[in-house]
Amino acid sequence: MSVRILVQKFGGTSVASPERRAQVAAKVSEAISQGFMPVVVVSAIGRAGDPYATDTLIKLASNIYSEMPKREMDMLMSCGEIISGTVLASTLQSAGIDAVLMTGGQAGIITNDHFGNARIIRVEPEKIFQRLNQGQVVVVSGFQGMTEDGQVTTLGRGGSDTSAAAIGVALNAEAIDIYTDVEGIMTADPRIVEDAKILDVVTYNDICHLAHQGAKVIHPRAVEIAMQKNIPMRIKCTFTDAPGTLVTNIQPDVVAGADAIGDRIITGIAHTPNLTQIRVNIADQENKTQTAKKIFKGMALADINVDFISVQSESILYTVRDEVANKAVSILKNLGFEPECLASCAKIALVGGGIADVPGVMASVVEALSEQGIAILQSADSHTTIWVLVRKEHMAAAVQALHRKLQLG
Ligand code: ADP
Ligand code: MG
Repeated sequence: MSVRILVQKFGGTSVASPERRAQVAAKVSEAISQGFMPVVVVSAIGRAGDPYATDTLIKLASNIYSEMPKREMDMLMSCGEIISGTVLASTLQSAGIDAVLMTGGQAGIITNDHFGNARIIRVEPEKIFQRLNQGQVVVVSGFQGMTEDGQVTTLGRGGSDTSAAAIGVALNAEAIDIYTDVEGIMTADPRIVEDAKILDVVTYNDICHLAHQGAKVIHPRAVEIAMQKNIPMRIKCTFTDAPGTLVTNIQPDVVAGADAIGDRIITGIAHTPNLTQIRVNIADQENKTQTAKKIFKGMALADINVDFISVQSESILYTVRDEVANKAVSILKNLGFEPECLASCAKIALVGGGIADVPGVMASVVEALSEQGIAILQSADSHTTIWVLVRKEHMAAAVQALHRKLQLG
């Protein structure tokens, strides 16, 4: 009989109370009764402010000394998932499930040494296999790994999704189930759009784009990893029995009852708030390329991520996150430029494999926003995405208007 491994990842809200953890245990039992060997990946308990949440741990040290070395910071941050893992393993034990907890390093997750945002190099699955073969459920602390020489690392925001995907690929799991507080991937963030619709099936590509554009429900890196080995991902709710969203490459007509992916022009809308638009006027038209090079080299050297770059006749426009805007401006001034800034903007992205084939989507976008009196500060498009930049105070109204105009609900 072949082994059937199922990775089940539970987010921070799923393990935040005893009642919720009982629901997690029920999902694990259900997998066992279906004949799976579950590997359970867990995030830190709760959200900012909760005692063991990642943000709370960060504050613990940064309140004392804001320049704490990243290596030590990673050790501190990794504790959140060790605590939640211990609590969850105990919950499973008390439900009669033989469970064992492993840290990321113990589970064989090997990363580079980019502390705070480490990348998984490979997963050595032997230790997990040994435990599974002894009939144990393996609980793995998400969001963390270990370098070749034993340093503890963390994987950056949403890193538990990435842990789950990497483990799923390394163990050749039948599926990677991402359990969270919503019933699947929706056409927009349900916190903003009340009638956002759950998507039955989405392609790895579409969800990867949506995630890169700010749809927080899953980390884009996790999708990329699962896609490499074509392992199906399912986004499900810990608290209900809804079928959730299947992320796959297979043709939708094979999946009974699903919308045809090909019929969809736009899969969903994502948003990213807290951006600053920077405008640098170009005095020297002759050397525009040189000017652009100078600006973006300056940003890169300071590790500032830039986005939404647009080189226009008189100026160069781009966005950075609000929190690094001051730094970006001082670099530009040092380079001899006089930048203009517009803080508190938001980027809205419409994502869908069919956008390129349908004329008039951009026209609908412009119409929807102008009807609401919302100014478009910048826009761009590719064969899968249309982006607009608006003021943050307009973000929710803009997402709602676009969702309505494009009939995604
Ligand atoms: P977890 O802690 O389980 O990883 P996250 O907060 O990372 O949970 O992700 C779930 C949240 O993602 C939801 O509560 C929802 O508000 C948000 N979200 C943003 N965009 C979407 C979307 N397109 N579909 C579903 N949820 C979304
Ligand atoms: Mg998450």
